[in-house]
Amino acid sequence: MHEMGIAMQVAEIATASIPDNMKDVRVEKVNLKVGRLAAVVPASLRFCFEIITKDTALSGAELHIEEIPVVARCRECDTEWTIAGPVFTCERCKSGSVEILSGQELNIESIEIADE
Ligand SMILES: [Zn+2]
Repeated sequence: MHEMGIAMQVAEIATASIPDNMKDVRVEKVNLKVGRLAAVVPASLRFCFEIITKDTALSGAELHIEEIPVVARCRECDTEWTIAGPVFTCERCKSGSVEILSGQELNIESIEIADE
């Protein structure tokens, strides 16, 4: 289950992004963007995140996961399209020479700190 490693990274980065003068705060929400190719199962990620963040400033924080579609570009004819299934050939010319433009990312967009 690679979600555990990802959850640890997310917790680490989110913790580091809490300003120094706000160490006693509670984080309410962590906004993530996850590409579909990252193959993250949101429920697993939330579960792992919950375990890791127990008794930290992130305890109880909601993980908001936005899935980024996989966008590919054909190197032969320059067509760009969104890949819906496990098909990695060009829609137009059927070339297999395809570049992935997005869908692999895993970014923390922002964290939201609870108002005291
Ligand atoms: Zn093509």
